[in-house]
Amino acid sequence: MEKALIDEFVELVSIDAESGDEARIGQVVADKLRAIGLDVTVDAAGNVVGRAGAGTAKGEPFILCAHLDRVKPGKGIRPVIKDGIIRSSGDTILAADDIAGVVAILAGLRSVAATCSGLPPVETVFTVSEEVRLGGARQLDYSSLKSKSAYIFDASRPVGVVVTSSPTHVGFEAQVTGRAAHAAVNPQDGVSAIQAAARGVVRLPFGWVDDHTTANVGVVTGGTATNVVCDRVTLRGEVRSLNAARAVKLAQDFAQVISVEAATVGAEAEVTCDVHYHGYVIPSDAPVVQKVAKAIEAIGRSAVIESTMGGSDGNVFNANGITSVVLGTGCESVHSTRESMPVSELVAAAKLVEALLTLN
Ligand SMILES: [Zn+2]
Repeated sequence: MEKALIDEFVELVSIDAESGDEARIGQVVADKLRAIGLDVTVDAAGNVVGRAGAGTAKGEPFILCAHLDRVKPGKGIRPVIKDGIIRSSGDTILAADDIAGVVAILAGLRSVAATCSGLPPVETVFTVSEEVRLGGARQLDYSSLKSKSAYIFDASRPVGVVVTSSPTHVGFEAQVTGRAAHAAVNPQDGVSAIQAAARGVVRLPFGWVDDHTTANVGVVTGGTATNVVCDRVTLRGEVRSLNAARAVKLAQDFAQVISVEAATVGAEAEVTCDVHYHGYVIPSDAPVVQKVAKAIEAIGRSAVIESTMGGSDGNVFNANGITSVVLGTGCESVHSTRESMPVSELVAAAKLVEALLTLN
């Protein structure tokens, strides 16, 4: 199994598939699913949805999910395997996020399909543009999915970790408008949008606001030259909280602070808030958690329940009524050129898929 896993991992990371450019990898994965025996459709967004065991096998259907896209720099990946660890050549990411999930699901399906009992009722969802605001998952046709639960192989944590909660993420954007003037000839006629925006920014909390809440202003743009009183600044930030109401309320409070502070120097601020994704908290006695905990035991590990402050397709699935947890695939240092994938974790992830497909 190990060699086949490594070969398929190398094959798939070698296909260029940065977000928005998943057509080719989608085609390859669709063909692989068909070869295993699944019925496969590719939707308009490019999401690859597979089905097996419908009508023949017994049991509640469930979803196995991973995403096809990767962040930049993710083109021309040339993986190097040394001492049981797969890495990139150093100039790109490795794309173990989330090819490790894709490969584990394919390998687990393949191995169970080859047994005499065959595959249980299962749906596979391989999404596009997960890394760009969960774009593919947002465009899925949820009415076409039969499953009420999902296992998303997409956490950069050891195999055995089950992520059962994730925050609500609210983004905000402020357009701060002042008045332009020559900075030295008639500065008294100007209103600096930079000064106005800065007054708001220093009043906002950064980082951990409480145990379950973070805040950040991550983008500031504006200004053209040192001799111009800047008349326009854009601020972009976010609030995340496991408490959805708190996330929304804080973002609204921030909008208020930015507006009030801008007004004190005669500028105006227009602030918009937007829920990027909704959070979820799945109780650890939920059947979806119990089942994967059993599967993790079957591969000789113990389930470790964790919370994350990140988002994944699971946020969109849960918001659409599919109870979903996110599972560790064993990849490390994702979204960086130091990203790595221990071969032993790839094997464990594939075995976990197998266990999920064979548990009763
Ligand atoms: Zn990912």
